[in-house]
Amino acid sequence: MTREPIRTCISCNRKGAKSELIRYVWYNGSALTDPSQKLAGRGAYHCDKKECKERFKANGKRLKRVFRLT
Ligand SMILES: [Zn+2]
Repeated sequence: MTREPIRTCISCNRKGAKSELIRYVWYNGSALTDPSQKLAGRGAYHCDKKECKERFKANGKRLKRVFRLT
């Protein structure tokens, strides 16, 4: 039983507990991983899978939308 918040992977839209997903924050014009999940700012999440990670990094446009930069 977990009370963890649920987050959605922006690559495949799979939902999972916050701790199962990798958190990113937008910082100085690029997405940084946030292993501690403590950095301030708008976060985005993706699963701990190679495909999702690559898709995440490759999709700059989507990233910007996720981070509400446009
Ligand atoms: Zn995913």
